[in-house]
Amino acid sequence: MSVDDYDAVAQSALALAQQGRGGSAAEDASNESLLGRYKHSLMGVFGMPQRPLVRGKGSYVWDADGKQYLDLLAGIAVNALGHAHLAIVGAVTEQISTLGHVSNFFTSPTQVGLAEKILELTDAPEGSAVFFTNSGTESNEAALKLARRNAGTEDKPRTRIVALKQGFHGRTMGALSMTWKPGYRAPFEPLVPGVEWIEPGDVDALKAAVDDTVQAVIVEPIQGEAGVRELPEGYLEAVRDVTREHGALMIVDEVQTGIARTGEWFASLGRVTPDAMTLAKGLGGGIPLGALVTFGEENSKRLSAGQHGTTFGGNPVATAAGLAVLETLEAEGIVEHVKETGEWLAEQLAKLPEVESVHGKGLLLGVEVGEGIAPHMVRIALESGFIINATGPSTVRLAPPLNITRDELGTFLTSFASIHAEAVKALETEHTANKNTQKEGTKA
Ligand code: PLP
Repeated sequence: MSVDDYDAVAQSALALAQQGRGGSAAEDASNESLLGRYKHSLMGVFGMPQRPLVRGKGSYVWDADGKQYLDLLAGIAVNALGHAHLAIVGAVTEQISTLGHVSNFFTSPTQVGLAEKILELTDAPEGSAVFFTNSGTESNEAALKLARRNAGTEDKPRTRIVALKQGFHGRTMGALSMTWKPGYRAPFEPLVPGVEWIEPGDVDALKAAVDDTVQAVIVEPIQGEAGVRELPEGYLEAVRDVTREHGALMIVDEVQTGIARTGEWFASLGRVTPDAMTLAKGLGGGIPLGALVTFGEENSKRLSAGQHGTTFGGNPVATAAGLAVLETLEAEGIVEHVKETGEWLAEQLAKLPEVESVHGKGLLLGVEVGEGIAPHMVRIALESGFIINATGPSTVRLAPPLNITRDELGTFLTSFASIHAEAVKALETEHTANKNTQKEGTKA
C-alpha cells in the first residue's frame, strides 16, 4: 500500500470505529468531566493528569475541550514521529487487519524484520540477538536476568550488580532494584539483592566497585529522569574497559536515549560495544514496544530456551510499528535532523537571559531555569499551549517529536520569557503564602 492508501484506509477505519463506539467513552468528554471520572476510576499513582488529550497530529495535540498544544515532551520521548504519522498509521492498520497477534510458539515477518533492522542499525557483531518486550522496565528485567546468568563459578561466584546513583531503570521489581531513588525503592523492599550504586562519572569509584564478583554494570548514556544529566567524556569507555577486565557485562540502558533521540541512532554505540542494550520508548513510536539487544554469540546464549518469555513481546502489530518508525527515520534523514535541530535549539535556549544552562544532546535537553521555577513553568506553559516537563525544581526537560521543525520550536522560544516571568511571580506568591502559613502556625 502507498502512504495515500494508508490515509484512506485509516480514515474509513476511523469512521467505522466512531460509528460503532458508543457508551460513556464518547459522550460527556469535556476536560472537567473526564478528569472527574478519572479520579473515581484510576489508581492515584500518577497524581491527577494535567489534561485529558483526545487527538494529535504531527507535533500538536488537542485536549477534550479543543485546546491545542505544541507537544515538546512527546509522551516522554516516545512519539518519535509525532502524532498520527501516516507511516505508523499505515503499518499498524495493515498489520492489525492482516494478523494481529501470534503466540511465541510462532513468529511473524514484522518480528523477524524488526530484529534484523535493529541488528543492522546497531552494527551488532555476528551472533547478536534481540528479545522483544513491551516497555522499558521489561527490557531491563530481561537485562537483569541476563546479568544473573553471568554467574561465575562455584568457587568464584558473581552476585553483584553495579548501577549509577541518580539512575532510573523502571518500576517493576527487578528494574526498580537497579533504580537509584531511595523513595521509589524503600516501600517495596526487600527487592532483588546485590545491587550497589556508585557516583556517575567517577572512574575511581567505578574501578573500586568492579571486581570479579560483579555480574554487570548498568548505565544510561544520559541520565534522563535525573534531569538529562550527561556522563563525562570517556566514562562509558572506562565502564567498557573495567567490565571487560573483570568479566562483568556492560549493559547500556538506551530506553530514553536510543532511536535517534540524541542525534545518533544510539547514544552509546560508536563509543563502546556493550554486552547488552535496552530499548523502548521511541522504538514503537507510540505503540508499546521494547527490546533487549545482546551483542555477540556468548551474550545471546546466556538466556536459554525457557529461561525467559512474554506473551505480547514481539507482537506483529507492535513490531510493524517499530519497523515503520525505523524505516521512516532512515528514509527521511531524521537522525541528522535531530542532531542539527537539537544543536540549534540548545544554542537558542542558551541565549535566553532566563536560562542558566542547557544540557543533554539532540532533542533530549535539560534546561536550568532557576530553583523552584520549573514546575511553575510546566503549569504556565500548558496554559499557553505548550507541553513541557520538569524533572526537578530547577530543570525543564524537552523531548519533542524527532521530526519537529524549527518554526514549531520557535513559537516556544518566543513565549519562553513570558512563561518564565509568570512562573517567577507564581513562585514568589507561593513563598509569601508559605511564610504567612508559618506565621499563623507560630501564633497558634
Ligand atoms: N530506563 C530509562 C532510562 C527510562 O528513562 C525509563 C522510563 O522513563 C525506563 C527505563 C522505564 O521505562 P518504562 O516506563 O517504559 O517501563
